Amino acid sequence: MIHLKHIIIGAGPAGLSAAYNLARHDIGSLVLEKESQIGGLAKTLEYELDGGTYRTDTGPHRFFSQNPALYKLIEELLGPDWVVVDRLTRQLIDGKYFNYPVDIVQALRNVNPFVAIKMMLDFVQATARKVLSNPKVVTFEDFVVLNFGRRLGQFNMLNYTEKIWGIPCSRIAASWAGQRIKGMNAFDIVKKALLKSGGPRSMVDSFYYPKRGIQEIYDKMAEFAASKGSRIEKEVAVTRIVHGGGLITAIEYEQGGKAAKEAVQNLISSMPITDLVKIMDPPAPASVVEAADSLGYRDQVQVFLIVDKPHITKDTWIYFPTTPPTFGRVMEPKNWYPTLSPRNRSSLLAEYFVFKGDKLWFMPDELIIKKTVHELEWLGFMKPNQLLKGWVRRHEKSYPMWDITYKHRLDKLTGWLKQFSNLYCIGRNGRYFYNNQDHSIETGLLAAQSIVDGKKYDLDNIGMENTYFEAGMLYARGGK
Ligand SMILES: Cc1cc2nc3c(=O)[nH]c(=O)nc-3n(C[C@H](O)[C@H](O)[C@H](O)COP(=O)(O)OP(=O)(O)OC[C@H]3O[C@@H](n4cnc5c(N)ncnc54)[C@H](O)[C@@H]3O)c2cc1C
Repeated sequence: MIHLKHIIIGAGPAGLSAAYNLARHDIGSLVLEKESQIGGLAKTLEYELDGGTYRTDTGPHRFFSQNPALYKLIEELLGPDWVVVDRLTRQLIDGKYFNYPVDIVQALRNVNPFVAIKMMLDFVQATARKVLSNPKVVTFEDFVVLNFGRRLGQFNMLNYTEKIWGIPCSRIAASWAGQRIKGMNAFDIVKKALLKSGGPRSMVDSFYYPKRGIQEIYDKMAEFAASKGSRIEKEVAVTRIVHGGGLITAIEYEQGGKAAKEAVQNLISSMPITDLVKIMDPPAPASVVEAADSLGYRDQVQVFLIVDKPHITKDTWIYFPTTPPTFGRVMEPKNWYPTLSPRNRSSLLAEYFVFKGDKLWFMPDELIIKKTVHELEWLGFMKPNQLLKGWVRRHEKSYPMWDITYKHRLDKLTGWLKQFSNLYCIGRNGRYFYNNQDHSIETGLLAAQSIVDGKKYDLDNIGMENTYFEAGMLYARGGK
């Protein structure tokens, strides 16, 4: 093993962005990735059947950012492979399709008239409450009900959020709303919907996407870093982090069943912060480890199916806030870029949001595939005899769980880790931050920049802009 003293844990978007930026400044790094494939949560999986290649991202990955510099960077990396994709995203609620992000005018028109009246009354009542008493907002439910009224909120956000998170919205932190939908209320949405088109809003907007799937961005970053002498080692799990005197001094890792040690000048970590504090040597205080144990994640079971049909849906992806079906979302990769499936066939990725211990997690793959096909048949998407092949993938720690008390427990971890001047925690689980790729990329770039400039930049404010995620959730944003 060569001695590259800047060590990066994880070859996902954050870790590779750090390696990429260091490489741009001719600084080598050693990236250690525990899995056999790079990309982290933004991987593109490849399956072969009958001589055809099928690609799918591990869940829909639309890139968007407020930061034009990130688009420029990716454009440089991908060249003509960075293409514009038209998006059609809908949600199926109680058997009817509705636009996503929600179009309140369309929603009110299409629900039962009594429900529409109740939605409007709830909204008026909520607005009056907001204006007259400005009640305290603690939970995500408080936020949604206050800004949309209960029925509209239920229709638009609460159902689906509970399906993703697996806990009631009354236990989800209002700060999550702060990230996703801050400053938004029903007035804004109606106004935007009307202003935008002067009539019914178009469901289609567009976004940039790599022709070969989202991982292409990270493949290119890895290629560039390697071309400048960095090493990206796969199937290497970091198992111990040695420290002393306010510095990280070494790491230990396992590769091919053997343990190895490496001295550290700087450590950039995108591994889950909750795992990181548990492999410290000497160990972190018991209260920090306890806090780490109490921070949870939502996991996923994903089912990828090759289907004997040239097309299955018209959508890039579809949400299912209500049950049935029991999965929460499906995407058809071919609708992202046509060559992600062969011409005469298509494929679907169905996502279940679960906890690792759930029944579905332990169900044999054949039964999960059968259940998924059955539900897809119920939706009218395919017939069982059109299934050519299916695969199941279980993924841990897809979403950090921002419940109402997570923040003060997380502060215990970050407070203790602050003593290490050569440690940079970056990315989604690395910072326990419910983020998108752009946040991970920016934290990786900035951590590397700190090493380049010899001055530790503050990563805390990345992704905290008021308008960061919300427009993407509620109505189309401008993109680039
Ligand atoms: C279902 C889903 C849909 C999403 N959709 C979008 C979207 O539409 N748009 C968007 O912008 N973002 C989306 N995201 C978010 C996006 O995937 C993440 O923001 C991003 O991938 C996080 O990158 P990261 O590098 O911070 O973390 P990760 O991708 O989690 O990478 C961390 C890496 O560290 C490795 N690792 C962990 N422990 C160790 C260890 N001990 N030793 C060595 N390596 C280790 C892991 O294997 C992993 O590869 C979505 C996420 C999910 C789950």
